[in-house]
Amino acid sequence: MITMTSITQIAYFLAMISFIVGLKYLSSPKKARLGNILAGVGMILAIVVTVANEALKSYQEVGEDGAASNFKMVNFTLILIAIFLGTVVGKRISDKAEMTKMPQLVSFFNAMGGGCAMLLGLLESQVAHEDSRLGSIVLLVAMMIGAASFSGSIIAYLKLAGKQKDKRSMLVMVISRLTLLLMVLIPVFVSYQLLPIDSLFHEALILVAIALIYGVFFVFPIGGADMPVVISLLNSFTGVATALAGIMFHNIIMIAGGIFVGAAGVLLTLLMCTAMNRSLWNVLAGKFKGNSAASADGEEMEIKPISVGEVTTSLAFANKIAIIPGYGLAVAQAQHLCGQLENLLESKGVEVDYIIHPVAGRMPGHMNVLLAEADVSYEKLKEMDEVNDQMSSYDMAIVIGANDVVNPAAEKDPNSPIYGMPIIKAYNAKQVVVIKRGMAKGYAGIENSLFGEENCHLLFLDAKIALNGIISELKNLD
Ligand code: NDP
Repeated sequence: MITMTSITQIAYFLAMISFIVGLKYLSSPKKARLGNILAGVGMILAIVVTVANEALKSYQEVGEDGAASNFKMVNFTLILIAIFLGTVVGKRISDKAEMTKMPQLVSFFNAMGGGCAMLLGLLESQVAHEDSRLGSIVLLVAMMIGAASFSGSIIAYLKLAGKQKDKRSMLVMVISRLTLLLMVLIPVFVSYQLLPIDSLFHEALILVAIALIYGVFFVFPIGGADMPVVISLLNSFTGVATALAGIMFHNIIMIAGGIFVGAAGVLLTLLMCTAMNRSLWNVLAGKFKGNSAASADGEEMEIKPISVGEVTTSLAFANKIAIIPGYGLAVAQAQHLCGQLENLLESKGVEVDYIIHPVAGRMPGHMNVLLAEADVSYEKLKEMDEVNDQMSSYDMAIVIGANDVVNPAAEKDPNSPIYGMPIIKAYNAKQVVVIKRGMAKGYAGIENSLFGEENCHLLFLDAKIALNGIISELKNLD
């Protein structure tokens, strides 16, 4: 006989497959949208059957224990209201979010996930059986990770939105380490009855408060170029908290979903660590480098401005061009013009490559998404490792709104906060043209010695205006 339990299990199985296929598709720009929809459908299926299962159980209990079933029906109604509100508010926020504000949005949504795990742990600690210490530890760990992820993500959100400055001091470091130590020691001490805490709920309350403080002080000192690593790490924390909450509720889809998010977050963290030359241990221990406003050698650079006409003339004689996009391209929303310039140059027999830095822009894959919007062929996008040792074969490297990812200080200045981060070696191209509006620094807040290099010229314009100008002058050359 087909029971609700077997329907639930089949639905969970299908949902899990949709998560796996969805994740797989997310790694290809062509299939990413489909992957997102697939995983979303799987998630809706999992939610619907879980809620239906519980609703059916409540319905069957009517008559057996009226008070208990009434209580469940109230909960059921509250869940539906929460799902409705979450859907409406989430959709509204996502629709309004600009592409350049995506990391803030990811941080905010991540905070919601962490907050959920924290509240579930707190609620469950009121009803959990205290005699099962192992079960209590799972609950406490899920709740602490959720709480730290919640407060950490809120601080990350505020920092990315420019509403919170970095706070770096010995005191911040001490509080961060001390709270982390307490989060480990308190459950151990309570287990051996070395602390006068008499209920799991009270222990949970104390640990939530400490974990919230830890999250804040963990993210406080992190600045500039290290932020992407932290966002993806917090994301994986939330995944782990969800998986642990799944163990608490014996819910297989929560465990699976949490593991997928946790694993994807850890993998992304490791990839970003490599791209930014950070060891995972340094990230976990909170040993982040700070920002510095000093230039690589402290000397004045000679800046050589260039005009649209001069750039166009050089382009007309070029055989091979590298386009290096960065955050400014996204700000200017000039990706379509970038695609047009590429087509125009190719129609004149010029070879064009886009060189993509893994942390260019403000979120992983930002440039890939941006250029995909402009229908730039995926084959045209070269990863920096692929082309870095052939940079001298490019007649011109056009750096559009990128700064940190082409900063030679990462290679030459051991005191620079980005020292050791792999960069695109634009300086090795025969000629470099940097399109930016003024002398503003990049995200890491440091001077860029590339701008003073012999072969580098700056086109001081908004990327959209600059590209428009170059395209129309190139057309006039026909
Ligand atoms: P940067 O932030 O280093 O530099 C962007 C440059 O774009 C600025 O110098 C700015 O100069 C210029 N710019 C801004 N608006 C325009 C415009 N309308 N037209 C032309 N230029 C413009 O960008 P990168 O992409 O080189 O580096 C990314 C940085 O962000 C790295 O430090 C990375 O660590 C960090 N980061 C990356 C994340 C990720 O996941 N990818 C997430 C969070 C941070 P000006 O104002 O003078 O025009």
